Amino acid sequence: AYALRTALAGHHGVPPSCVTVGNGSNDVLDMIARVFLWPGRESLFSQYAFAVYPLSSTAVGATLRVAPAADFGHDLAAMQAMITDLTAVVWIANPNNPTGTRLKAAPLKAFIEAVPANTIVVVDEAYFEYVHAKDHPDVSQWLGEYSNLIVTRTFSKAYGLAALRIGYGLSHPDVADLLNRVRQPFNVDSFAQAAALAALDDRDYIQRSVAANDAGMRQLVKGVERLGLDYIPSSGNFLAIDLGRDAGA
Ligand SMILES: *Cc1c(COP(=O)(O)O)cnc(C)c1O
Repeated sequence: AYALRTALAGHHGVPPSCVTVGNGSNDVLDMIARVFLWPGRESLFSQYAFAVYPLSSTAVGATLRVAPAADFGHDLAAMQAMITDLTAVVWIANPNNPTGTRLKAAPLKAFIEAVPANTIVVVDEAYFEYVHAKDHPDVSQWLGEYSNLIVTRTFSKAYGLAALRIGYGLSHPDVADLLNRVRQPFNVDSFAQAAALAALDDRDYIQRSVAANDAGMRQLVKGVERLGLDYIPSSGNFLAIDLGRDAGA
């Protein structure tokens, strides 16, 4: 994926050797599990975090450690308290799916700072483009400071290319080298690469996509409030609503 990898590197201001392309960022999450997790090692994530973290971790036989959530969001203090010598990967979704909660820059940076250097921290930024808040971090800017940090991004959400399957990871080149050793050599097809390359720096397209989401979110929140239903304020392109009945009922 030479052209796309080069463009992504330029987009984020990192060398191409930091980039790992995936068949969706899900593919990159799976590579991370395959490289860093195995039986006896611990995979740590929050209650209500993205469903793929336990799936990919279970598939490679790792021990799952689930930190209790606070107000449906990641409780970084609770997560930090659960890190042990065996913790190989900590997963954070910012914003998170399915809760729509997000973490601000300062507490997230303090958390990453406190994680041992031999524990991988994954910050999954699938919904990054939707967040307008000034205190929201672009974690790719911190890659130079933390060699154990992996950021994942996707073209599936604001870029609208989910069915083409294209995402990527950014990390220290040594970490990217390990991920690329388990990556299937032809994991990203040429149509997906061409589409991602065309969309990447098309600011007008992204702005229109995000504006459509903002308008839809306002409409949805208004309707949900009118119906008197509880919901979790969302930083993503979806809303978690309490329909007032038990799951499965
Ligand atoms: C959608 C999503 C992904 C992965 O999407 P891909 O289509 O595989 O790129 C990753 N993380 C979160 C939190 C998501 O919601």
